[in-house]
Amino acid sequence: FEVPIAVNEPVKSYAPGSPEREEVLKTYKEMYKAKIDVPLFINGKEVKTKETATMSPPHDHKHVLGTYYKATKKNVEEAIETALEARKKWAVMPWEQRAGIFLRAAELLAGPYRAKINAATMLAQSKNIYQAEIDSACELIDFLRFNVQYMTEIYAEQPESTSAAWNRIEYRPLEGFIYAITPFNFTAIAGNLPASAALMGNVVVWKPSNAQIYSAKVIMDVFREAGVPAGVINMVMGDPAMISDTLMASPDFSGVHFTGSTGVFQGIWKNIGDNIKNYKTYPRIVGETGGKDFIVAHKTSNPKQVATAMARGAFEYQGQKCSAASRCYIPKSIWKDVKEYLVDDIRSFKMGTPEDMGNFINAVIHESSFDKLASYIDQAKKDKNVEIIAGGNYDKSKGYFIEPTVIVTKDPKYTTMCTELFGPVLTVYVYDDNKWEETLHLVDETSEYALTGAVFSEDRYALEEAVKILENAAGNFYINDKPTGAVVGQQPFGGARASGTNDKAGSKQNLYRWISPRMVKETF
Ligand code: GLU
Repeated sequence: FEVPIAVNEPVKSYAPGSPEREEVLKTYKEMYKAKIDVPLFINGKEVKTKETATMSPPHDHKHVLGTYYKATKKNVEEAIETALEARKKWAVMPWEQRAGIFLRAAELLAGPYRAKINAATMLAQSKNIYQAEIDSACELIDFLRFNVQYMTEIYAEQPESTSAAWNRIEYRPLEGFIYAITPFNFTAIAGNLPASAALMGNVVVWKPSNAQIYSAKVIMDVFREAGVPAGVINMVMGDPAMISDTLMASPDFSGVHFTGSTGVFQGIWKNIGDNIKNYKTYPRIVGETGGKDFIVAHKTSNPKQVATAMARGAFEYQGQKCSAASRCYIPKSIWKDVKEYLVDDIRSFKMGTPEDMGNFINAVIHESSFDKLASYIDQAKKDKNVEIIAGGNYDKSKGYFIEPTVIVTKDPKYTTMCTELFGPVLTVYVYDDNKWEETLHLVDETSEYALTGAVFSEDRYALEEAVKILENAAGNFYINDKPTGAVVGQQPFGGARASGTNDKAGSKQNLYRWISPRMVKETF
């Protein structure tokens, strides 16, 4: 069989007066009023527990959107049992059936669920519609479609045989269950991490971030309507430490598909190490973590192009992307122009709720993120040799709003040049034009993370040097473009060093991690 060739879902414009704009706004308003309940999903059933928590829009934190239920240890154990039971049928189900289910999920998202998933992401994660559309609609749809195609390409890979010996590889799922841990910042990632493992025949226990439960519920509804059988993807929320400890203590734990912070990921490795003797099989550890992503401009680069990349790369979705530009290296000769364009761009950004589609900047995700960012900004206000040239104000009275802030430092190792802040704060270091090579080495040496990075130049020799010296400093390397916005099927995404295992989301390389092949040689 052949599956439909995957194509990227076209991004809708949401221009004033367009039907999609009207629909998403209507859905947003309805969702704002409706108080929803988000139960756990175990064995295809909705499970409600005694302990609950509420969900609120980050830009309107006094308003309650609904309630979610927190799992007990017993619920998590049930999720494991039910997943293992479901595995008996799911793991041997013909792949065409699995493909059909996830292609159907893609079509549901492209059509009847598009306004819902976008409105949920706008409302509960404070994303503007343009960012929501490329994430929760297009990227998630692309993940589903492209992964189905990649799966069939993998299954078609077979070794040579002879007339006397038939060699064949059986692409089986892992023995046990997969634990998917997903972040708040991309609804697409929240959907993809459980779905890609399940597509390859695995059963999954999925823990969405507590800050993304509202749109996770929509994803779960889509999976269920698309026909994902009971027990194949189970969703549990609540205390992350208890959930992780319980799942990783199981002998049937066979892998983790993770996107989140570096600290949590390192804790997972440790936890797995502590349990290593209990497992039936070595677990697969696949993770994408943080970033401290750079933009380096050469003296030959175009100042306007560089400034636009800085503004977009640093402040789209309030800088809450692992890929967000957060440290920039600009040569003295073009800094004056870059600065002017950058400050102008930032001045044009409106800040407020996603409901007003003219607002480019919305709120940061929660109070602890807000407080952390505010404390770095306050420190920068006090520090010597540091200047704030844009933003610097914040206000959490109604929502967690932080102005897009640009810090200029004379110290290339200043805290905000090195620490991942995960918010709308960009730090700039201005270097001497004749220190290009030195600056590239400096960037590399200070790259504890290696997720994304961008280099700007009109000079091929300068670019070549950057490509070489920064070889290990970014898993997604951009030449003359901003370091965010990787597109599934075009730029598989992931990085090494402290940024993760670089198993490129949205690629065959990622799907290989979710199979445990058996090589069969049959002689005649
Ligand atoms: N894939 C996203 C991008 O290219 C970033 C994903 C993340 O923040 O984890 O911008």
